[in-house]
Amino acid sequence: MNRTPGVGSGGVDLDALVVGGGPAGSVTALLLARAGWQVELVDRGTFPRGKACGECLNPAGVALLRELHLLDPVLATDPAPLEGWEISPLSEATARGRFSGPDRALGIQRRTFDHALLQEARAAGVQVREGTTLVEAHAGDPWKPAQVQLRLAGGEHEERRARILVGADGLRSRVAGAVGLALPPRGPTRASLTWRVAGRGPSRSRGRLLLGQGCTVGFAPVGNPMGILWNLTLVLTGLERTGGLRDDGWEQALEALDEGGVRWASEPRIVEGPWGSGSFHRPVRDVTRGRTLLVGDAAGYFDPLTGQGIFRALRSAGVAARALTGQAVRVGSGPSPSTERLPPRLHPGDVHSLQNYASALSQGLRWSRRLQKTIDATLARKTARRISLSALRAVPGAASALIRLTGDRPGTLLRVPSPVLPESGPTAEGHPADLH
Ligand SMILES: Cc1cc2nc3c(=O)[nH]c(=O)nc-3n(C[C@H](O)[C@H](O)[C@H](O)COP(=O)(O)OP(=O)(O)OC[C@H]3O[C@@H](n4cnc5c(N)ncnc54)[C@H](O)[C@@H]3O)c2cc1C
Repeated sequence: MNRTPGVGSGGVDLDALVVGGGPAGSVTALLLARAGWQVELVDRGTFPRGKACGECLNPAGVALLRELHLLDPVLATDPAPLEGWEISPLSEATARGRFSGPDRALGIQRRTFDHALLQEARAAGVQVREGTTLVEAHAGDPWKPAQVQLRLAGGEHEERRARILVGADGLRSRVAGAVGLALPPRGPTRASLTWRVAGRGPSRSRGRLLLGQGCTVGFAPVGNPMGILWNLTLVLTGLERTGGLRDDGWEQALEALDEGGVRWASEPRIVEGPWGSGSFHRPVRDVTRGRTLLVGDAAGYFDPLTGQGIFRALRSAGVAARALTGQAVRVGSGPSPSTERLPPRLHPGDVHSLQNYASALSQGLRWSRRLQKTIDATLARKTARRISLSALRAVPGAASALIRLTGDRPGTLLRVPSPVLPESGPTAEGHPADLH
């Protein structure tokens, strides 16, 4: 057997095939294209599209977009600035926490946010194919090209061979399943419904998080020129699917808002949704195998509560691009200035790059994962939940400290160790600007 990659292992059509056009996929594809890689991104959906999400991009995510020169196109979608969150157990007083860094959070609409990032990927030279579903992948062997089967919008099938397969296909990642990285779901089952609501009355400077026994309601403004749109998300523990929620979920969510003291000047109405999701705990064995690499939710997800998902998706994209290209992530828009793209081919350094990605990602996100697990465990126990929520109200600054920990620590979360650079793959000259 020939064990030398690139020799006798057949040609490849692409440097990278990215599956999924959410924030993780768009930004990974964009950064690879900026480094001169030939990249194709497929998504089964057509954009713009809505998605189940609390739609709060935390300040660390905002800072990361700025570093990547991607904040302007996101700001052009007119997001709502959020100065903090109010956290309260249902029926009790509220603890207010403020973000403290230079950035506020942004209440974004996933429809426009995801679309804006995907358009940036296109502008950077990524070939984007919407309505295209990955149905099968063989990418577990580092010595052979990743081979995938796609189903196109018209129902016909197509095969593609890529040097690297990037699974950015979210919860229940088909890529992770196909290469044997997905583990069975664990932990408490949870399901959610998200509505886009129109109405006037509540304060638009903060989000609200209402915590009940087995029930969480998130409520936050999202951007729009009229200033009347909101994200309302209901998460219930003990449910596998959202089917059972659809009948009375809306009433439950409105009741919770009412108990939490949210007052409307006019009757709120649903303008879009609901989008259902769950259950959330989707562990993975590892984030790489063979010629496959997972980013964003596909790389393991367990709870939307702390609102770090988009930040983590963006972060993993940055770490992946850096590990794969062996160069600092190039900022600035448009394709790489030295547009001579080398023909795609397998490269021995790829295996090393994937290992670097796995270790850099686990170190870079360790803190955020630990924090999320601690919060989750605390809220799952009735007494611990009651004591910690009382402490949040009683101890001055405690709520702000918690909010800072979950969304406002760019100094800690962005400082991931620099991976050992692999021997160079096909790179292009750029104007490197480090992520760190
Ligand atoms: C109820 C809820 C509330 C949340 N609230 C927040 C919040 O307030 N703040 C926050 O930061 N995060 C929040 N999150 C988490 C956040 O939504 C995710 O972490 C984020 O969307 C992950 O981005 P991603 O790019 O990895 O995946 P996604 O955004 O899920 O994108 C995956 C893409 O892959 C495509 N795809 C899937 N399978 C295939 C296939 N076989 N072929 C082709 N394409 C495919 C899909 O169409 C989709 O476009 C929340 C999540 C939930 C469920």
